[in-house]
Amino acid sequence: MTNTNQFMRNIISLALLSVALGCGGAKIDESVGLAHGTNGSGVIAKDAAVQQGSSEASQISSEFSTEIGVGGIITYLASDELQGREAGSEGIELAAEYIEGIFESSGVKPYFKTYRDTLTNFEKPAYNVVGFIEGTDKALKNEFVIIGAHYDHIGSADPVSDDYIANGANDNASGTTAVLEFARYFGKFKNNKRSIIFALFSAEEKGLLGSKHLAAKLKEQNLNLYSMLNFEMVGVPLVGKDYFMYVTGYEESNLADVCNTYAEENLVGFLPTAKEYNLFKRSDNYPFHLEFGVPSQTFCTFDFTNFDHYHKVGDEVSIMDFDHMALLVNKTLPVLEDIINAPVREIEYR
Ligand SMILES: [Zn+2]
Repeated sequence: MTNTNQFMRNIISLALLSVALGCGGAKIDESVGLAHGTNGSGVIAKDAAVQQGSSEASQISSEFSTEIGVGGIITYLASDELQGREAGSEGIELAAEYIEGIFESSGVKPYFKTYRDTLTNFEKPAYNVVGFIEGTDKALKNEFVIIGAHYDHIGSADPVSDDYIANGANDNASGTTAVLEFARYFGKFKNNKRSIIFALFSAEEKGLLGSKHLAAKLKEQNLNLYSMLNFEMVGVPLVGKDYFMYVTGYEESNLADVCNTYAEENLVGFLPTAKEYNLFKRSDNYPFHLEFGVPSQTFCTFDFTNFDHYHKVGDEVSIMDFDHMALLVNKTLPVLEDIINAPVREIEYR
């Protein structure tokens, strides 16, 4: 989430893991944004499961992500080697290469000519990393769902003894990990009727610059966007809530209701503090809301009471809950599938 001093003073006052599968894809022209690809392994198995009844299919998606898998990804992204992933730094360059490698090995193609979408609104070279899986349905494939998270962080923070690296495990290596797991799943099964764009944003900490750049560019290209689903700070579980995660802008749309219907449980809830601090405007969903006017909201499990290390050097992988993160992915996958494959658009603003 972007940092505004009043907002931060309020927060401070209030508060305070690699698995790969393979197939490749065709390259395309940066200005057009369409691609043609090949099928990856495992699709047959899933389709058969789908035919044999959704229970087996949801069985697969509900066990797809593991503690070890998410642990491996977030441990690398939040490692000291990546120096807190500040936009324009060498550390974030390593993160971008890593994300590209996972996209490639997961059968997720570049949305543009390459996976790199160069920001036009930042003084240093900075890149969103943007992947794509074309939909399987003749009509619905022309509609897009964007699944995103920012992969940058602030680099360094007030040192504690000699540790000055702000590793940004929760903010937002956790959301990046979730998106990479979603990409691995859909890359494996390619069972998405609508087309999916996976977008890892840079320079969120500089003022949502990566998402502002990409939203404007895709709008210019007349992308037919259904919804933008963003994941932010999902590394530790909520405590004492009757829902698993909350969505920002809860009252703006029926997204939470639709998710809970698909999940057949109270998966997504309302956090009053999120409304109080207007979090709807503080993460990468917001530029898509402004450009497209379609439901663009952020899922999160940080509630200002369950994590004391916001933008501090203490935001380390050692305090992330890998089990919770894998569970979040496995609970969310069937919901994403139902959103992406719904015959008609069900998510709408109120
Ligand atoms: Zn953040």
